[in-house]
Parts: sequence; structure tokens; C-alpha cells
Amino acid sequence: MDFKLTEEQQMLQKMCRDFALNELKPIAGALDREARYPVEQVKKLSELGLMGVAVPEGEGGSGLDTLSYVIAMEEISAGCASTGVIMSVNNSLYCDPVLKFGNAEQKKLWLQPYASGDKLGCFALTEPGNGSDAGAARTTATRDGDSYRIEGQKAWITNAHEADAAIVFATTDRALKHKGISAFLVPMDAQGVSVGKHEDKLGIRASSTAVITLDDCRLPAANLLGEPGLGFKIAMATLDGGRIGIAAQALGIARAAFEAARDYAKERQAFGAPIATLQAIQFMLADMATQIDAARLLTYRAAALKDRGVRYTKESAMAKLHASETAMAVATKAIQIFGGNGYVREYPVERHFRDAKITEIYEGTSEIQRVVIAANVLKEIS
Ligand SMILES: Cc1cc2nc3c(=O)[nH]c(=O)nc-3n(C[C@H](O)[C@H](O)[C@H](O)COP(=O)(O)OP(=O)(O)OC[C@H]3O[C@@H](n4cnc5c(N)ncnc54)[C@H](O)[C@@H]3O)c2cc1C
Repeated sequence: MDFKLTEEQQMLQKMCRDFALNELKPIAGALDREARYPVEQVKKLSELGLMGVAVPEGEGGSGLDTLSYVIAMEEISAGCASTGVIMSVNNSLYCDPVLKFGNAEQKKLWLQPYASGDKLGCFALTEPGNGSDAGAARTTATRDGDSYRIEGQKAWITNAHEADAAIVFATTDRALKHKGISAFLVPMDAQGVSVGKHEDKLGIRASSTAVITLDDCRLPAANLLGEPGLGFKIAMATLDGGRIGIAAQALGIARAAFEAARDYAKERQAFGAPIATLQAIQFMLADMATQIDAARLLTYRAAALKDRGVRYTKESAMAKLHASETAMAVATKAIQIFGGNGYVREYPVERHFRDAKITEIYEGTSEIQRVVIAANVLKEIS
């Protein structure tokens, strides 16, 4: 696999890196402290074409490939991991399934304004009673003539407060388990839809996360995404792609922590010399750089497979698993290199550490990634 970036990808990387350095990194600490949604920065992401990176131009997006999306996600997340997740949810969890499963009419209404960044989407799969076990959905969808009545609660929904629409997964028949789940396009201002309080999170604090309640929410049958009963398949296919985005987010967090630690090690003096001259510190930096490169290669591979149109479930799980564990390991070592200064908010590495943790949880915990990888490797025969 050749990962030499094209000229276009290099330009995209530079554009995103400049934006992250100049407009995200300087304010990421304040956004985190104030748990403030980055309104202006998200608007700028739209202007830069980053809210529908891999959506075709004819559908409102930038018409680039998944590898380009990964490159952009790494850079944006290195500047601000909260901004990274806002971007990733709109790209991977909202636009991607509408592009893949929506009909022409739905794409006009529910994709184009979202891929251009005029509107924002969210993805509502998890419920208060089930996350990993998404097939156990309790939110119900009842057909009533030409409409559906949706009832239930969705938990932990990123972008819930700012989103214009959500893809909501609901069951039409609980006895059918995952085969009874369907996906619906739900406008957030529909009657019966309400959003709960902002969750007070450990990390990615500038992104909003909340419960969405659907109380006698009536939707036209035209808002069904894909076929009835296809919802679980849509959710799993979406998460295959989403995990590549989270791997890229984790990469960005890891790189930011690594760069901060490397630069600090060259400045900080102990025993009459910079700590970077100590082999103990050098070995930590060597391990961090190696883990990051390995995570990037896994992530690029998963993106390349998606672009080639071949099955990439195992590879995206591997990329997400390794990149998220790398982000945690690298951020932990970065704090160690900073010593006491790593433990306070004056320096950015404690934020990278807090931001890194969520990448091991959402879009499938590390345990679920291992379940997916194991199921796939056990199917393989030599
Ligand atoms: C900040 C944040 C943002 C989120 N954003 C979204 C969003 O936008 N949309 C959305 O739908 N969801 C979102 N989520 C939900 C997230 O995807 C779930 O939290 C996650 O999938 C885990 O589900 P759970 O919290 O119910 O944990 P559980 O499923 O209850 O898991 C608890 C523990 O048991 C383990 N476990 C469960 N099943 C197995 C198994 N079969 N094998 C081994 N171990 C297992 C888990 O790995 C974990 O360690 C978000 C969550 C957070 C915290």
C-alpha cells in the first residue's frame, strides 16, 4: 500500500494544520475550561469544506476520499479534540449513512445542507439502558397510516444541542431484536423532540453531549432511511466508517501530546542539562513516536480499503483500537515527561489525557473492537 499523499492531500493537510495551529490550538484550553461549543470555529470548518469531506460535490460535499478525511481529522483534532468530534459526527455518523442509504429526495433535504455545513447532524443509537448492545433498542417506532410515531430516549448524543437533524434508531418489533430496528431522519425541531442537560464530561468538554427524548414524535413515513428493519445494518456499517474518524481523532490527540512533550523535554533542565538528554526521556519519546506511526498506518490502511470499496470492518476496528490506546498511552507518558507541570491546567497535556479517554469508549469500546476483530480473525482460514 502506497501512502504517498497526493498534492491535493498535502494541500488539505497544510490548510487544516494552519487552521488548527492558528485558530484552534490557542483557544482549545479556554473552550475546555468553559465547556463552550466552538461556534465560530465550526462555521470556519464549513467554509473550509470540512463538514462533508468525502461527500460528492454534487451532494454538497468536498468530493474527496476517506484518506483525505483522515488527514483533515488528525489535524483538526490535534488543535482541538472537541472540534474534531463535532466534525467527525457530522461527516461519518450523519452524512455517510444518508449518502449510502438515502434516496434522491432524502439526499436533497437531509444530506446537501449538512455536507456543506449549513446544517449540523447527529447520530442517535445509544440509549440509557444499552450502548454496546445496540440491538436491544427500546425506542419504538409504530407505523400509523402514512407516518411513524417514535417514543423513547437516546443517550450520550454528540451535537444534540446544536444539531438540526438526528438519525434515530428505533424498533418496530422488539421480538425481532436487531432485525426489528429501523433508522429515521428526525428534525430536531419536530414536535415531541427535546434535548436534556449538557453532560458534564471528563474530556472533549467543548462538544455537547445530551439525552434526546422522543415523546409521541410523529414523522412522515418518507423519513425512514433505507428499508424497514435495515436500521441495525445501517448503524453497524456507519460505525465501521465512523471508527476510522475516531482513530484519526485519537491520532491527532496523541500527536499533540507527543509534540508538547518533545518540545518541553528540549527546554526543561534537570541536573544541568535538558531532560531530553536523559535516556529515560528519550526512550519514552521513541515509544510514543513509534506507537503514533503504527496507529497512523493502521488508520490510513482502513481508509484506503474503504475508498477501494472492499470490506474493512476488521481493519477499522484495529485502527480505532490501536489509535485510541495509543492516544491514552502517549498522553500518559506526556504527563510523565512534564512532571508536576503535566498535572495542571496551565499546560495542555492534562487536557490531551482527558480528551484521549473517550476514544476508547465511543463508537464501540476497546472491548467491542476486540470482539469485532476476534470474530473476523476466527472466520479467516489459511
Ligand atoms: C462523550 C460521549 C459521546 C457519545 N456520543 C454518542 C453519539 O453521538 N451517538 C451515540 O449513539 N452514542 C454516543 N455515545 C455512546 C457510546 O457510544 C457508548 O457509551 C459506548 O458504546 C458504550 O456503551 P455504554 O456506555 O452503554 O457501556 P456498556 O455497553 O454498558 O459497557 C460497559 C462496559 O462493559 C463492556 N462490555 C459490554 N459488552 C461487552 C461485550 N460483549 N464484551 C466485552 N465487554 C463488553 C464495555 O466494553 C464497557 O467496558 C457517546 C458516549 C460518550 C461518553
